[in-house]
Amino acid sequence: MTEVWWVRRDARLSDNPALLRAQASGPAAAVFAWVPALHFWSGRRVAHLARVLWSLDQDTGGRLGIKRAPAADAVLAAAREHDAPVVWAAREFSPAGIVEQESVREALESDGRALRLEGSPYAVEPGTITKADGTEYKVFTPFRNAWRQHGWDAAAETADATAFVPTASDVGLDLYAAHGDTTDPVTPRREFREDRVLADAGAFIDSALGDYDATRDLPAADGTSNLSVPLAFGQIHPRTVLGWAAHDPSASARVFESEIAWRDFHADVLWNYPSARRESIKPVLSQDAWNTGKEADAAFVAWREGLTGYPLVDAGMRELAATGTMHNRVRMVVASFLIKDLHLPWQRGADYFRRTLLDYDHAQNQLNWQWVAGTGRDASPFFRVFNPTTQLQKFDAEREYVRRWLPDLDTPAYPAPIVDHAVERAVTLDTLRLSRP
Ligand SMILES: Cc1cc2nc3c(=O)[nH]c(=O)nc-3n(C[C@H](O)[C@H](O)[C@H](O)COP(=O)(O)OP(=O)(O)OC[C@H]3O[C@@H](n4cnc5c(N)ncnc54)[C@H](O)[C@@H]3O)c2cc1C
Repeated sequence: MTEVWWVRRDARLSDNPALLRAQASGPAAAVFAWVPALHFWSGRRVAHLARVLWSLDQDTGGRLGIKRAPAADAVLAAAREHDAPVVWAAREFSPAGIVEQESVREALESDGRALRLEGSPYAVEPGTITKADGTEYKVFTPFRNAWRQHGWDAAAETADATAFVPTASDVGLDLYAAHGDTTDPVTPRREFREDRVLADAGAFIDSALGDYDATRDLPAADGTSNLSVPLAFGQIHPRTVLGWAAHDPSASARVFESEIAWRDFHADVLWNYPSARRESIKPVLSQDAWNTGKEADAAFVAWREGLTGYPLVDAGMRELAATGTMHNRVRMVVASFLIKDLHLPWQRGADYFRRTLLDYDHAQNQLNWQWVAGTGRDASPFFRVFNPTTQLQKFDAEREYVRRWLPDLDTPAYPAPIVDHAVERAVTLDTLRLSRP
């Protein structure tokens, strides 16, 4: 009897409980739904997805089925193709992920089949860590402490690469997917094979984890794990990395774990507050406090194009446009600038990040924007306004990062500041004092 593994954000053979369950009764079928929503992804992100799937297809002996259809239709088609009574998948917790898995469940059940959910993209599933009274933690640090105490399962064994049956595909993963976009010379080639992702993660844990706390805030240094892209596509499970990091007794390793805890915390917040995908959890300003109209639009364009005249903001935005990624420290600075210097709502920036980030993850993006905006659960207070000039002095003192992305810096072509930070900071603080929703 063949069972189906529905590939979601878990494109990997290692440490994958849903896949192991599908293979428990013999070779499994694997299907990925190439859903219409992929039209809204950036070309770069779709290309990366194609490479990830190409790699998974190779690893399953060319047996992955990719079907261009909404998930319910694609998964049902695969289940019928194999007359499979059961489909296994990892559970999603975001509003869109829940709607999708319920549509698949309904389609399968009305055809006499079942959807079984096993595992998730998180070390600890959203909704698990609660206070003694059963309610969710609203503050990160006690959440993290309880999260640590709860712990996570050991990594599961790696699935049998030979135990797959072929499933029909109607999406071809061409050479472009396999070898990268040769028309895009700026983007560093990102690893997209699972074995490379695991090797790189292992190398980071072995050689760079001890320095993580010292270098993680320096955008010019390669001091972070670069795991967010493989985590977003599910090529590695956070539990795998946490298991490795646990052997390192350094304080730096605990800081790294804490960052993974933020990932679980944000997923937990979105699970508890589904409307946080668009709305502020704690609106700090009334709606009419934000700039609108032509001037606001022009300011947004200057921000997006990296032409604000503030080097750290501009370098970050140009790095994002060129590569689809941006260092975390710089993400905080550009987000604060949009909200508190240009007085534009966080949703506008979050939408642009959604269209450009390679590691885009709904819960992480929306809740990080809400953190900077001061509207989230346990967010940075609204009155904390990042100063883009002192942040540059502190975190890129040699100007190595900004020079990398701003060839026009220190030339007459580089724009003058579009706003005066001190003035706009005062405007923000005044607005906060006067405007209560
Ligand atoms: C405005 C804004 C938007 C963001 N949007 C996203 C997004 O769409 N997707 C995304 O994965 N991250 C997002 N982040 C978080 C963070 O910037 C990236 O996870 C990080 O830069 C990825 O680099 P890394 O893997 O080398 O991180 P490392 O420093 O090596 O951290 C290890 C892992 O911990 C997790 N992590 C680290 N920082 C955070 C954080 N602040 N919140 C949640 N998890 C974190 C990530 O999974 C990361 O891969 C955003 C941050 C900001 C300020």
